[in-house]
Amino acid sequence: QSKVSILGIPFINTTQSAFEQTLQQRIDQQQNTFVVTANPEIVMYARNHPEYTKLIKSANFIVADGIGIVIGAKLLKTPIEERVTGYDLFESLLSWGNQHQKSAYFVGAKPAVIQKLREVVSRQFPDLVIAGTHDGYFDNDTQIVNDIRRTNPDMVFVATGYPKQEEFIERNRAVTNGLWMGIGGSFDVLTG
Ligand code: UDP
Repeated sequence: QSKVSILGIPFINTTQSAFEQTLQQRIDQQQNTFVVTANPEIVMYARNHPEYTKLIKSANFIVADGIGIVIGAKLLKTPIEERVTGYDLFESLLSWGNQHQKSAYFVGAKPAVIQKLREVVSRQFPDLVIAGTHDGYFDNDTQIVNDIRRTNPDMVFVATGYPKQEEFIERNRAVTNGLWMGIGGSFDVLTG
């Protein structure tokens, strides 16, 4: 995978559809994978927080989730093929997971939103296995992570906003052989 460095962040240079295939393959092969969907706010935050920069660089993939990043790359004469948004990846993985009987665990958002997410996902993606859900307002990881370990989902979606979601993933990703991705406000969007 070729990479393009913008403000010290190594973005993968890919298209939405090529990257979807990469992730599907890795899920099928049960490879532990951490994806950061970096929007301009995340890039700016990383500039002022070296620990967070180090953390997101430990991900397998950082994708350019923002047209500003794609434009910046072009101006720097190191173009990135296409913007890849966290929300679009989320929807396409749910749809693919539904077609292939994969399982997913959802962590994040307010209790009412995560409840509604369960309903929306079971209606729109009936063959996707919901391994579990938890709202995004908790003091310690233990109970949630034990549940994730026990259910061993193919995909874990964490939507607690940055930097929390990436910190949570980095601490806990070793408990499954699947995909972990931070996706900001996506649960609100899918249920809204
Ligand atoms: N959120 C959460 N736990 C928190 C803070 C936020 O689950 O401690 C959720 C919030 O309910 C929303 C999502 O994180 O669903 C995204 O929040 P925000 O828009 O602040 O994040 P950003 O888009 O800035 O990453």
